[in-house]
Formats: sequence, C-alpha cells, structure tokens
Amino acid sequence: MPGESIFPALEPLLEQVSKPIQYVGGELNSTVKDWNVGADTPAGVTVRWALMYPDAYEVGVPNQGSMILYEVLNERPDTLAERTYSVWPDMEALMREHEVPQFTVDAHRPLGDFDLFGLSFSTELGYTNMLTALDLGGIPLHAVDRDESHPIVIAGGHAAFNPETIADFIDAAVVGDGEEAVLAITDITAAWKAEGMPGGRLELLLRLARTGGVYVPRFYDVSYLPDGRIQRIAPNTTDYPGVPWRIAKHTVMDLDAWPYPKQPLVPLAESVHERMSVEIFRGCTRGCRFCQAGMITRPVRERSITGIGEMVERGLAATGFEEVGLLSLSSADHSEIAAVTKGLADRYEDSQVGLSLPSTRVDAFNIDLANELTRNGRRSGLTFAPEGGSERIRKVINKMVTEEDLINTVAAAYGAGWRQVKLYFMCGLPTETDEDVLQIAELAKRVIETGRKVSGRNDIRCTVSIGGFVPKAHTPFQWAPQLGAEETDARLLKLREAIRSDRRYGSSIGFRYHDGKPGIVEGLLSRGDRRVGRVIEAVWRDGGRFDGWTEHFSYERWMECAARELAPFGIDVDWYTTRGREESEVLPWDHIDSGLDKEWLWQDWLDAVDEVEVEDCRWTPCFDCGVCPQLGTEIQVGPTGKTLLPLTVVGGSPLRERAHDHASA
Ligand code: SF4
Repeated sequence: MPGESIFPALEPLLEQVSKPIQYVGGELNSTVKDWNVGADTPAGVTVRWALMYPDAYEVGVPNQGSMILYEVLNERPDTLAERTYSVWPDMEALMREHEVPQFTVDAHRPLGDFDLFGLSFSTELGYTNMLTALDLGGIPLHAVDRDESHPIVIAGGHAAFNPETIADFIDAAVVGDGEEAVLAITDITAAWKAEGMPGGRLELLLRLARTGGVYVPRFYDVSYLPDGRIQRIAPNTTDYPGVPWRIAKHTVMDLDAWPYPKQPLVPLAESVHERMSVEIFRGCTRGCRFCQAGMITRPVRERSITGIGEMVERGLAATGFEEVGLLSLSSADHSEIAAVTKGLADRYEDSQVGLSLPSTRVDAFNIDLANELTRNGRRSGLTFAPEGGSERIRKVINKMVTEEDLINTVAAAYGAGWRQVKLYFMCGLPTETDEDVLQIAELAKRVIETGRKVSGRNDIRCTVSIGGFVPKAHTPFQWAPQLGAEETDARLLKLREAIRSDRRYGSSIGFRYHDGKPGIVEGLLSRGDRRVGRVIEAVWRDGGRFDGWTEHFSYERWMECAARELAPFGIDVDWYTTRGREESEVLPWDHIDSGLDKEWLWQDWLDAVDEVEVEDCRWTPCFDCGVCPQLGTEIQVGPTGKTLLPLTVVGGSPLRERAHDHASA
C-alpha cells in the first residue's frame, strides 16, 4: 500500500548502525499526517511532498530553508510534507542488503511513494547524496527514465542557480525564495491530480514550466561550439509550446507576512546548531563580488523589530531552546539592530536565554552589539571577516574595510574584555598575488600587538581562518579564472611560514586552512554545464558519497572520473575551473534569471580588476544592478521607530520606559 511505514523493516537495522536516533523521527514540532489528508478538501486530492536536505541528519535538521517549507506545506489541509536526510554509508549498505528503500523520518514512508521530491542544495557537494537517495528510493537516476509512478524531483537552494550540472537527474529546478514557490507548485499539482492527471508526468511538467518560475531542463536544448563552449541554450518550443526562454527567481516581499518557522524543530539527536534561529532580514546589497549569496538574494527585505520580537517569543515557547541566533547574511546591517539587540537583551535579561548575532562586520558598532548580547555572559571569541589580506585585494572584492578599521575594531574588542578574535580570509581571489596573502600575516601581527597594548595582557589570541575562493554563477567573478589547487596550497604554505616564523607574535596566532582540492571540485560543479552530469554519476557509481565531509571526500576519484568522462568532449577540469571566460561566452546559467543584469555584472567585473568600489544601494541611490525592475521588487528597510516592550506587564502598571538606541547601522 502506498504510504505504508517501512519501520518494521528498518527497526532491526537500527541497532547495527551508528547514531540510530537520526533515523527515528518524532522530534518536537514534527508533523505526521494521514496519507490521504486531502480527501475531504473540495478537490478531494492530497499533494505529498518529501523534502530533503542532502546531508546527514545532524546538518540537515537545523536547516532553516527546509524547516520553513516543511511548515508552510503542512499548514495546507490538502498537503503533507515529510523530511528525509542522507543515510550514512553503514545504513546504506544494510538498506541495500535488506531492500529497505530511502524513507522519510516523520512516518517512515518510502520516498518513491510521494508526488514531489524537493531537494535543497546549499552547496554543490550534496549532488552525489541526491543520487544515493534516488537510487535507494527506487527512482531512476535520469529524469527521462521516470514515469507517472515516480515523484517529480525538484532542486532548490543556492546551488540551483546553476542547475545545469544536475540537469539529467532533476525534473525541475526552482530558484529564489521557496515559500510561495512550493505553494504554487502544490496548487498546480493538486489541480492536475483533481483532473485525473491528464497527459501524465509530461503535462504536469509543462504546466509547471509555463509559469516561467520552474525550470524543466528537458524542455531546453543545448548546442556546443567546436571548442567546447556553449553555442546556445534554447527552449524547444516546437515540441513544448509555451515554455519560456528564461526562468525567473522567486522573491518573497514583506517578511513579516511569513513568520516561519513558527514551530521550529527540536532534534532528538545532536545537530550542528542547538539553537533557534530567527531570520532578521533576507538579501544583501553590500556588493561583495565573491559572494553568491549576496548577489542572488537581492534586494534587502527586513523583518520589522516587532516581527522579530514575536518570532523569538513564540519560537522559544514552542521549543524550549535557550539560545536564539539572529540570522541573515550580515545581521549588524539591520536598520534597527541596536534596538533589536537591546530590546531582546532587556526582555530576557533574567532568563537562561542567550542571544547570538553571527555577524562578521568589521567595525566598532559590531563590538557594541556583541557587548550588549553578552551582558551577563562570558566573553570568549568574536569573528570578523575582512576576507582579503591587503587593501588592494579588498578593493577588488568590494569589501570596503581599511586596515585602520580592522585595527580599531579589534582594539575595541580586546579593550572590552574579549580574549580571542577570529579573522576570516579567502585565498585565490581574482588578481591575487602572494604578496596580497602574505599581508594577512602582517595584519594578524598588528592585531596581536594592538590587543596586548589595549588589554595589557599577553594571553590574547587571534585565529586566522582561510577558505579557498570558488567563483560562482551570477556574480561578477563568474568570468574569473579559479586558482589551481597546487598554487593555492603553495600560497598558503608561504603564509603559514610567515606566521609561524614570527617569534614575537607567531605563538599567539592560530592558523586554520583547507587545502585547495575540494575547492576545485566545487568549482567544477558550480560553473559546469550538462556534460558534468556524467562526472557526478561516475563518481557516485565509484562510491562517492558525502563530498562535503573531509573523511569521505576523494579528490583523486573526482579527477579520475572527470578525466575519463570529459575526454570525449575535448575538455577537462581546468577548462571549467582555471579558465577565464570572455564577455561573449554563453554561460550555462544564462537562462536562469536572477534579476541581475549581465552587462552590469560584466561592468562590475571590470571595476573589480580596476580596483573600483561600489557602494551599498541601501544607503545610496540605486546603481541599476537590474534586480528590482526586472523582478518587480524593492528594497524594504526600516527604521520603523518601534521598540520591543517587556513581555510581562504586572498589575496594569505603565509599561517601563526604555531608552532605545536608534543608532543607524
Ligand atoms: S536594482 Fe538598484 S535598488 Fe535594487 S538591488 Fe539593484 S542596485 Fe539595489
């Protein structure tokens, strides 16, 4: 019977695997609905979604995007949504041996029984895990081999902004905010089911594609030039009339109207974030040129201070969490962040509730916020992200932070009692030289020198953390050559030596970095085209799983498979990664409309090379990146001028007057 629980078959396996609790579900605020929950609705049909964050449970369960969609969908009376996560290799082996299919953790239903299978990819390194889930679910890996009995496989998340590398495996992709998009897809699916599923799977895909907001790769043809570059990507309107040339990003306006998650999930097993998160705004217009998240989530839309207060209050009551994270791409940029943090700190001053602001802005204002949030707590570490080591490279990436800004900021931090400062940088940025990276060592030494001076102590520390830069689609650096793995490693080695060899400060500076190899695979997947799908499949067939995990990742496997699978096309990994692109080149994601004007992006790339900076359009006139007119959106920022009032009013006494600091971010 469809929708029947496979738990009886799963249960005997649980005692044989690591962390069995991750497979049992039953978390606080999880939802289990009747399989035919929609039967009594006017249309008399049920739309069933399986949602996956394609990583281990501990990483997937706190994911905000998946949690929001799970709740939004389950609020509909005709819809049920359940969650599934990647099973560890020990469980996978047993499931294959005992023929247990990929299952949801909510009601342990087989993945293959659902109508729609939505995957949220925040990184490309989850692609092989998608193939495992499809295969364990009895769903053909290739979309063209599926029929009416299989779910429609839909990719979302930031990686879906270039869905071409997984075009063979997905039926559809949706870009942008998911809340309204999943409801629209549910409506279309419900109507098609109510009509008796006319035209089968193809008709449903056509209806989705014709909305202009769902990309169905099979309706688009790609042709190539003799040198391997793409000649054209075009909809096949002869066979599939009405399929649009471009597929638009979804943007939710008015975040206060979407206060999700209202009932955040509380995992039973250990997870990467043991806290409740409230998204205080979406989007970022600071214009950091390396940052795909900032570019593809424009424009900025703030949640109001009162909306934030209500979400925190309701979420804490629903979960019992003792820590609240105020999330966004750059939380200190909220127009009323000072009032938000002070208001929340006042509200929860006498409780166990801790507040955190994972902001990495480099300025003294950030220290004020951090001080406010840790009024009663221990001052351990603060993180800042100058991203580039030299003033020159920070101009290239449009990270407008001077060395003096950084030194003043860390001086304020050490002076306020913080003992540890973490600095985040990238290596391999466009136009970067060894000298730019070696400046990181000089900066770190100045940080320690300043810290010792202002604190009068010798035990202060600074940790330098370095990530490899990977050029991404829909950013000004989408045309840039990526630095090779060996060159990255050589540059980082020089930096490590420069830090370690310093007798005065070296022992106070921690150095953390990853080698350049995973970045090359990520680069291949993030700027690849449909031909790269063969590589992903070959890697998976060779045993590739959990590529985001160092202990499972095999660079050699990726390189061997890529060499073999790409050779027939006369191209290789370097062609996709370390090769610069011309303005005229058709990029694999050109038909995915993020709203950003390609000419504006190219100009921004030229400005990067010329070290010309661009302001944040939140505070300055619009500089025509294209997003707002193209998508009919606008910047939504405060201040609202409102304040957070105390939660409990005793005996009708007047509300306490509070002096709120409306310092502008
Ligand atoms: S269109 Fe103008 S206001 Fe809108 S995000 Fe782009 S630069 Fe900012």
